[in-house]
Amino acid sequence: MIGYKQALLYCTSTNQKFSLTPTVGDFSFGTRASPSLGTIHIKIPTPLPKGIEPEIHVVAENVPLLLGLDIMEAEKLYVDTVRNKLVCVKDNWSVPLVRNQGHIFYRWICSEVFYTATELRKLHVQFFHPSSEKLYNLLNHSDAESVNTETRETLEHIVRTCDVCQSLAPRPVRFRVSLPDESLTFNKELALDLLWLDGQPVLHIVDIVVPRVLPGRAYVRLRSAHPGNTERAVVHV
Ligand SMILES: [Zn+2]
Repeated sequence: MIGYKQALLYCTSTNQKFSLTPTVGDFSFGTRASPSLGTIHIKIPTPLPKGIEPEIHVVAENVPLLLGLDIMEAEKLYVDTVRNKLVCVKDNWSVPLVRNQGHIFYRWICSEVFYTATELRKLHVQFFHPSSEKLYNLLNHSDAESVNTETRETLEHIVRTCDVCQSLAPRPVRFRVSLPDESLTFNKELALDLLWLDGQPVLHIVDIVVPRVLPGRAYVRLRSAHPGNTERAVVHV
């Protein structure tokens, strides 16, 4: 059985006409009975493309789709409460189940409910321009099934094209170099090249007037735009 609102939502989300086939019968909820309002066919997604599509009674209650023993036996299904899986013996597949408030559920993966770019841009502004990683983690923690890698890429694009984020972004790192002047004597013009060898910064200095690489080596400290982020470099002079 399934609740009336849940059945209506299923038909809306799958673009089906909400039409109930008249039937008779009551279902017990505690000490009271709830009559069947009719039946509809609901396609339950499985690892196989065809899925299973049993006939489900609709009742005027707020309940999710509940699979009865008649459907479980007809489809050769059983619930593995040790591994938390719904297993189909007939077609040899299984899907993971989740536990919540003492019950065990099969959650459908609906690929059509991801956030749109407009919704993500609005969330980006409403949450005061967080980084793409922060907002993605927040959405992922809220509902992991509503985000995917495309969501992350869209958020990164939003941050890259957001005027506010770009104006507040840290400036690119610039290295500044100082040389121990007491032990070095150069001519008027030098050519300097900073390169990386095996992950280490190397400052290459050539005297333009005497065009050769000057022998010797010394260490200098490279200072970046970030306080405290300093590195030592080998200087060939
Ligand atoms: Zn922004």
